[in-house]
Amino acid sequence: MKEELKAGLEIHQQLDTHKLFCKCPSLLRNDEPKLLIERELNPVVGETGKIDTAAAFEKLKDKTFHYQFFDTNCLVEIDEEPPHGINQEALRIALQIAHLLNAKIFPVSQIMRKTVIDGSNTSGFQRTVLIAHDGHIETSQGKVRIETIALEEDAARKKEDSHGKRVYSLDRLGIPLVEITTKPDLKNPEQIKEAALKIGEILRACQVKRGLGTIRQDVNISIPKGQRVEIKGFQDPKIMVSTVLNEVERQKKILEIKSDLKKIKVDELTNLKEHFEETDCNLLKEKPVFGFKLTNAKGIIGKELQPDKRIGTDLSEYAKPVSGIGGIIHSDENLDKYELKTNEIKNVIKTLGVGKQDAFIIITTSKEYAEKAHSAIKQRLNLLGKGVPKEVRRSNPDSTTTFLRPMPGAARMYPETDCELLRIKKQLMDETKKNLPKLASENKRYLQEYGLNDELVKVVLKQNKLQEFKELTNVTDHYDSIAKSLTLFPIELARKQNQSKKEIGEILNLDVLAAVLEKVGNDITPNDLKGVLEKIVQGENIKDALKRENIDLDKIVKDLISEKPGLSIGAYMGLIMGKYKGQVSGNELMDSLKKNIDL
Ligand SMILES: [Zn+2]
Repeated sequence: MKEELKAGLEIHQQLDTHKLFCKCPSLLRNDEPKLLIERELNPVVGETGKIDTAAAFEKLKDKTFHYQFFDTNCLVEIDEEPPHGINQEALRIALQIAHLLNAKIFPVSQIMRKTVIDGSNTSGFQRTVLIAHDGHIETSQGKVRIETIALEEDAARKKEDSHGKRVYSLDRLGIPLVEITTKPDLKNPEQIKEAALKIGEILRACQVKRGLGTIRQDVNISIPKGQRVEIKGFQDPKIMVSTVLNEVERQKKILEIKSDLKKIKVDELTNLKEHFEETDCNLLKEKPVFGFKLTNAKGIIGKELQPDKRIGTDLSEYAKPVSGIGGIIHSDENLDKYELKTNEIKNVIKTLGVGKQDAFIIITTSKEYAEKAHSAIKQRLNLLGKGVPKEVRRSNPDSTTTFLRPMPGAARMYPETDCELLRIKKQLMDETKKNLPKLASENKRYLQEYGLNDELVKVVLKQNKLQEFKELTNVTDHYDSIAKSLTLFPIELARKQNQSKKEIGEILNLDVLAAVLEKVGNDITPNDLKGVLEKIVQGENIKDALKRENIDLDKIVKDLISEKPGLSIGAYMGLIMGKYKGQVSGNELMDSLKKNIDL
């Protein structure tokens, strides 16, 4: 089974710069907007003249769209001003990513408009431009080809979605995104995960945003005789393996019962309210109730497609977005949990004319929306009867997936006439290639070569101190001391002095650290380092801080000899060095011992 799986990845990563086609900061806002703008969405007719299927689907939702406008937005985000020139910093980062993915860069590229199907863009389209093609990454199971790398605008951020109304925040609209698409070279869930992690590592080596929601990973999956299904919105690569396995199972089960599904006939929608006037069922009490018969559907609606998700669940998930129903009641489930009376069920069966081989569905919503749910369920059964529907599904935290929308059709792209052709000069290609950032795994190896232990390596990388570490290696070869004075000591001192890490960092800047580290191994020992830095933080100048405590070495030696007479020079040496670790120099101690011991 697994060998027959074909999968590809599509990864979207936000870049850490201002917006792509205006100078607004890429700043997410959760405070009150300055303005609220209301728009309606109409499907855009693409160049081929066909209305996009997905756009048409979305039109069914009868929604108005509200956009929150902040003081960090401008007219470009509300489509009242043409786009500015493409953000050069974002372009450079995209080029670096393309180089790291071994891809070929397009010297000339047309900025395109991609039809947006859900109102998440004020203009009805998203700008996107191809940057590179035909790259690859290596995985333990072989090479994975990268099909394209594009630079595009992020969509507006959904804040609220109720019936008939959807609210978006314009804060996210226009944040530069790099879109990476692999070829369907991935053969099993483990390889999908490995490739996702590898690409993630490459992205994080570049100037990208970090944290929840800044990277979105979609997986395209198909099995033989199945269809391409896109699973969107993996936040956590950990559930990728189990989700892909569940998805493969779902597709196989649909194929298994395809012919049974095909035989199902959906009867007319019937008002069933009269049978539930006195009902104890909380779901139906004092609500409109409709229902319909499914001929030849007995036992099929209850078939499980994913863990705890049946055909019935699939039908209701498909009908939800167009009808707003909360769910459906169907005859293949245990009806006891709804507290339906036997005669209520009998009446439904009689009214709908449900036979031994048939099933029925009950829904509760207004007539208008019941009709929409009824026709959606009919459409869904029709689709499932043909096999695995080609569609976009959402990844859930429990490793299952939920129907999101039909797969967008081909009529999605047309040229952005407001923008010039994007030309990438040879000089820029070369320049970005020369200064490629290192991957985390390479940085790790680099630090390990300096003999740092794993803990220090981790903390240097986590605190992003690699560059400073590199610079300070010119000053001293006490590499542990460099790492500690960049990472652990400032944290400790901040806590001890009750100051912020930032304040400590300003005092112990690179020049100060260089001046102190230079003396390690000469005037001070590695063990003195923290004490010296503490004095500097407390306000002493570097020169004074570097002076060691005055220790009367002769007195120490004399006292020890009288306390423990008759030991060897080596033994005295060991005792004193142990006690005054880092405070006395070996040579001075040896001189004092020779002077004071009776040889
Ligand atoms: Zn703007």
